Amino acid sequence: MAPIKPHWVQPSHPDRLHLIVNEAEYTSKSISKITLPPFALFAKLEYPPCTPAEKPTYATVQCGRDKHLDLNSDLLYINHSCEPSLIFDTGNMNVIAGPKGIQIGEELTFFYPSTEWTMAQPFQCLCGKPTCRGLISGARDMTDAQLSGIWLNGHIRELLEEQRGRGYDNNLSINTLSTTTTANASTTAMDCNLSDNNNNNNNSEKFAELELDQTARSLRDALTHAEKVVEAARNALTSYVGAVNAKSASNKVPEGAQRRGPTSRELSGEMGGDTEVVA
Ligand SMILES: [Zn+2]
Repeated sequence: MAPIKPHWVQPSHPDRLHLIVNEAEYTSKSISKITLPPFALFAKLEYPPCTPAEKPTYATVQCGRDKHLDLNSDLLYINHSCEPSLIFDTGNMNVIAGPKGIQIGEELTFFYPSTEWTMAQPFQCLCGKPTCRGLISGARDMTDAQLSGIWLNGHIRELLEEQRGRGYDNNLSINTLSTTTTANASTTAMDCNLSDNNNNNNNSEKFAELELDQTARSLRDALTHAEKVVEAARNALTSYVGAVNAKSASNKVPEGAQRRGPTSRELSGEMGGDTEVVA
């Protein structure tokens, strides 16, 4: 990527991104400082704050049909690869690990046409991967085969369907959106509401009925796995906190006047404890 003068505080992601700049060759490389499982959150695009860009440049990412963002952080140095380690989910303002996850020391890359319909500066890819697509100039110029197996943003899928005259698959789009609820629930596991159990378990069943491509199947499997993680953590938290509370409560109140289970607000520390006991 061409040189750019950073106007943000560097490093912008000191705990997870190690930037190596080769000033002589105008090249850079971003190395992961963390290990993540498939589709886990690498960074939110909200901080440092992205700002709307008037037009696409080599320093922007596309987040909608006519919307482009300046990243304003070291994330903009992340190189393209035809077998990328990251996904830029610009519709949801997330950067997440790819389907294989990320290892410490691995180069951070993403597939530029997954966000870009056309590119300000097309380039010949030198990623060296067996599936290298060669000239990268945006999704508009790529065949179905070249885009197969790659996660693409909603705006790119929509534009491709229009270009191919196929009409966008709204059914998949709507169901894809419903994962947002579950994803949010996962990130706030500590703020769980115990009665939410049922809501969290329904999405993967919904996807099972759809005909999904390989990328969607991987995402659905990751979602099912994440739901199990959330459920196990929720149960473990309930047992852990609940057992201690029950013990201290049983010292103060007679048998038979057993307290109710801890609420999620108590579990998250938002409330001081069991009001029944305090009273
Ligand atoms: Zn390549």
